[in-house]
Amino acid sequence: MTASPSLATSDHGSTSVGEIRAQFPILQARAHGRPLVYLDSAASTQQPEAVIQAVSDYHRLHHANIHRGVYQLSQTATRMYEEARASVARLLNAAEPAECLFTRGTTESINLVASTWGRATLRPGDEIILSVLEHHSNIVPWQLVAEATGARIKVIPMNDAGELDLEAYRALLSPQVRMVAVNHVSNALGTINPVRDIIAEAHAVGALALIDGAQWVAHGPTDVQALDADFYAFSGHKLYGPTGIGVLYGKRRLLDCMPPYQGGGDMIERVTFAKTTYAALPNKFEAGTPNISGAVGLGAAIGWIEALGLDRVSAHEQALLRYATERLSQVAGLEIKGQAGAKSGVVSWVMRDPPIATLDIGVQLDLRGICIRTGHHCCQPLMDRLGVTSTARASLGLYNGRDDIDRLAEALTEIVASVRTRVSASVSPITPASESLAETQDLTYPAAAAQSPEAAADEIADLFEFLPDWPMRHQHIIDLGDKLPVMPDFLKTAANSVSGCQSTVHIAARLKPGTEDVIEFLADSDANIVRGLIALLQQLYSGQHAAAILGFDAEAYFTRIGLDQHLSMSRRNGLASMVQRLRHLAQRYAG
Ligand code: PLP
Repeated sequence: MTASPSLATSDHGSTSVGEIRAQFPILQARAHGRPLVYLDSAASTQQPEAVIQAVSDYHRLHHANIHRGVYQLSQTATRMYEEARASVARLLNAAEPAECLFTRGTTESINLVASTWGRATLRPGDEIILSVLEHHSNIVPWQLVAEATGARIKVIPMNDAGELDLEAYRALLSPQVRMVAVNHVSNALGTINPVRDIIAEAHAVGALALIDGAQWVAHGPTDVQALDADFYAFSGHKLYGPTGIGVLYGKRRLLDCMPPYQGGGDMIERVTFAKTTYAALPNKFEAGTPNISGAVGLGAAIGWIEALGLDRVSAHEQALLRYATERLSQVAGLEIKGQAGAKSGVVSWVMRDPPIATLDIGVQLDLRGICIRTGHHCCQPLMDRLGVTSTARASLGLYNGRDDIDRLAEALTEIVASVRTRVSASVSPITPASESLAETQDLTYPAAAAQSPEAAADEIADLFEFLPDWPMRHQHIIDLGDKLPVMPDFLKTAANSVSGCQSTVHIAARLKPGTEDVIEFLADSDANIVRGLIALLQQLYSGQHAAAILGFDAEAYFTRIGLDQHLSMSRRNGLASMVQRLRHLAQRYAG
């Protein structure tokens, strides 16, 4: 490994990135024959052996339902669950563990506040302030409660670097504002927001402040009392812990006054058919059997990261962020989105010259064993503000070193070079504009590739079987996409666009001239992988009778040729949307 900083442990030892990486079983794996490079920690961090072991030990040795059993096993499980809560309180510097509620994650934590505090408190004309940097999980719950109560949402804008405009924030503040809900760190750009100031200014007008800490807690020390946060939310799976467990911190005086979120066992004091009284904190907000093993795993993750020292984690990630920013800036045609002065370990970018769809970047990197995230990152309003539909994002964890960044930068340089070669060999991945083709009748629509969709499917399957692995099949799909018949720009209308795909997709179908039920279609996308999938669909469907199209089970077929294993869920959904569009058209002519 090239010069990676060390992280000192709390017992004054020193742990190198290599030693940390060795604690993560999954990072010893290979992907497509290459050592795995994991750069998607903002989506989910991986779990160290200490966490995996703690969860496993819990299941093997200590599992029982909590709070109710008189037997020792139940008491041990209860103790472990409550110890995990104490660890959370220590991590956040909460005044007491009872202020730390276990939830399924950040999303549920925010929904809890919006639906309990929000519905009980908000009145028509009240205002909620969010920021343009928010994840959908800190937007949609507030929209739901605003619709239900008549409250209004206002949005803090940002500058081009991705920093919140604090002057604009101040201008939005007024006595009507009841809640300011912003993230501590933006998941899409990495901006670290000045939450202490944001909270203080919210309090100055009598508003509460909720901080979405999903992207912060694993990256630096948190002190909810020093911040004076009213609510603070985070997820275990972004803190080297398990999925399905998260936390809502809330000040006792607020939680005490809020109505329960869900009703059920464990959250009651006394139930009669006439009236129920509720348990004290934290049980009032933890109805039903909770995720006990998840809490135990989260407690172990907190212990593990505390032993490394969050200050040192932050120093390591900041140094690596600087290196990543420098290396990626050197990739020709790459434009980094989000250049805030204070940033966490996230680099988001788009490829401008040559333009390469972020979906293709993600797929190409995956083939080289590199995991990054592409898409809108659940931040569509932010993407709109940036004027893009998606970005590619590499996000750092404390197991990443400079070697990971080198692999990423080298792979990107290689991808850019190969696209340049294809463009200069005039196999353009971009459909040339064809305004001169005024009439759809002048266009060449793909004729039937075989007697029936089934016969075409067999031919494709034979070829796929011949190609030994996914990288080769993937290349074949890309090659098919390169030969896609031209779809002129004038056919790329809103009516022809297909929603539900991760990239831009248009389909224009027609009845083959001189027939009453033969469907032909042109289609295109900005992503090469999708163009390849379109080519497969054309081989299956274009030039076939409507009834034959309807009779063909595309989903079973895609499973047969292994696409279900290799396409992400969003791409499978995109493929399903295209098939659905063609089936709708076929229905019209099936007679
Ligand atoms: N908020 C931010 C800033 C996030 O990055 C995420 C997840 O990516 C969430 C909220 C939602 O977290 P979860 O899916 O764990 O509930």
